[in-house]
Amino acid sequence: MAYDPIEKNPEIARRANMADYARARAEFSWDAARKQIDGFPGGRLNIAHEAIDRHARSGHGAQVALRWISKSGQRQDFTYQDLSRQTNRFANVLKGKGIGRGDKVFALLGRVPELYIAALGTLKTGAVFCPLFSAFGPEPIRSRMEIGGAHAVVTSGRLYKRKLKSLRADLPDLQTVFLTDGQDPGTETLPSLMAQAAEDFDTVPMAAEDPALLHFTSGTTGTPKGVVHVHEAVVAHHVTGQYALDLKPGDVYWCTADPGWVTGTSYGIIAPLTNRVTMIVDEAEFDVTRWYETLAGEAVNVWYTAPTAIRMLMKAGAGAAQAQAFPALRFMASVGEPLNPEAVIWGNDTFGMPFHDNWWQTETGGIMIANFASMDVRPGSMGRPMPGIEAGILEIRDGSVRELTDPMAMGELALRPGWPSMMRGYLHEAARYRKCFRDGWYLSGDLAMRDAEGYFWFVGRSKDLIKSAGHLIGPFEVESALMSHPAVAEVGVIGVPDETAGEIVKAYVALKPGHTPSEDLRLEMLGHARKHLGPAVAPKEILFRQNLPKTRSGKIMRRLLKARELGLPEGDISTLESDEA
Ligand code: ATP
Ligand code: MG
Repeated sequence: MAYDPIEKNPEIARRANMADYARARAEFSWDAARKQIDGFPGGRLNIAHEAIDRHARSGHGAQVALRWISKSGQRQDFTYQDLSRQTNRFANVLKGKGIGRGDKVFALLGRVPELYIAALGTLKTGAVFCPLFSAFGPEPIRSRMEIGGAHAVVTSGRLYKRKLKSLRADLPDLQTVFLTDGQDPGTETLPSLMAQAAEDFDTVPMAAEDPALLHFTSGTTGTPKGVVHVHEAVVAHHVTGQYALDLKPGDVYWCTADPGWVTGTSYGIIAPLTNRVTMIVDEAEFDVTRWYETLAGEAVNVWYTAPTAIRMLMKAGAGAAQAQAFPALRFMASVGEPLNPEAVIWGNDTFGMPFHDNWWQTETGGIMIANFASMDVRPGSMGRPMPGIEAGILEIRDGSVRELTDPMAMGELALRPGWPSMMRGYLHEAARYRKCFRDGWYLSGDLAMRDAEGYFWFVGRSKDLIKSAGHLIGPFEVESALMSHPAVAEVGVIGVPDETAGEIVKAYVALKPGHTPSEDLRLEMLGHARKHLGPAVAPKEILFRQNLPKTRSGKIMRRLLKARELGLPEGDISTLESDEA
């Protein structure tokens, strides 16, 4: 491929800490990592024990585990001891309703303490926890609860009345609905049950392979899949939290992910608690001023966020950040979407440290590739494989699979299965699951390149690759080039059919405040892109939009842009969030 991100970003060609990286990988083994887990006799374990009781029982009960900031700005602290007792009570409530091992307990809640208590209390009983986006409408809720075979759900009185109540007849497996507030016929009032429940509970010792979590994928490329994870996943959550997020006991940590998404569980509940940090949970939606105030006011040490949020902060300008100081901040990381080099550099200018991009999927359960703490960041790169993870770039052609080892060869990003947080299946979709594996590799469905130092560079989803006049073009490089134009707030790129070229590159651009769409600006941007990318790769068309269609986990839905462009059916849009033409 013509495009060379290192050449395009000369400021990043710094010396990487190859020695540290090589040592970390050489010294690492999953068996050694398993020893970091407390566990129960006979090789049994339970995620909730590692997250809470282990610390509560070893002299850290008084440390704040969760600091909740309500929408109106009130704070409520839960120590490890508090969480231990509350999750015991919740486990007893479930037990009282006959819910236990293997049963599915769903949560339809915003960022409220009850969500965290329900998640960990569920795990204590051996039941499987499944979070939903609270912003989902009734249909995505119904289909997920049906696929998942929900036995119980925890929700608020308001969400119940608006979204769930009318679905009850369609969900015969759903026996119990717990309301965190209010009352309604056919539901249980959680606060009164919690008040009556005993404060002691013997966490159920689980086998490593027992299911613990059910997560639905983001639905960026199609109908969401129900992904099953097991209790042993906690080993991967724990160590990746250390390597990729630099979590240290006692840190103040803020993960901004929505709790309905896998990041909200793996790195919004499990990894931070097993590493004994103090988690900040802010109930409110994104708000520039509030976010900066939280980062500064709570003295956040480690911050894990996403490109969409970073781009919104960039859009608001430097002034907003400059109003605050962040002396406590030590590490910033990003996940979920490709992080444009522009954003990494902006982070460096604004906070004095880069955003550390990392890559993983619902299926992988935990971070697989990262710019981790002990190595230099390459802006625009996802980083290098975690210790214990082998990643490769594959060429898959007519039934044969070949690993590509030349630097910057583009192919399918694949992983050697065998880490503890790997999915154990797609619920009810055995064939779809089997199709993910070839010749001993797990195929991610993403395209990437690997440079000579082993850093991986995201190209795009396999399905989003653009074939134009003999060139293979990944949307990400075009999007990154446009992002470097000062007027661009966000951009999504697709290929549209063209008689001569096969496909041409088309970009949908949302502008920063203070810029208005005009023909002059459009031509200027086309020129800017051509200068950065060359005429073969640069977009031929640019269309201005208010914003781009995104999933609730903040991913640009390029397939939707494309379906509309081609006048095709929109497909599954159950996770669609913002979308203004
Ligand atoms: P679906 O599988 O339903 O289409 P999805 O793949 O978006 O949805 P997730 O599992 O939430 O669902 O997202 C994982 C995907 O997100 C990855 O396969 C990748 O395409 C993208 N992604 C995550 N992190 C990064 C990153 N750091 N850089 C580039 N892409 C990323
Ligand atoms: Mg996916």
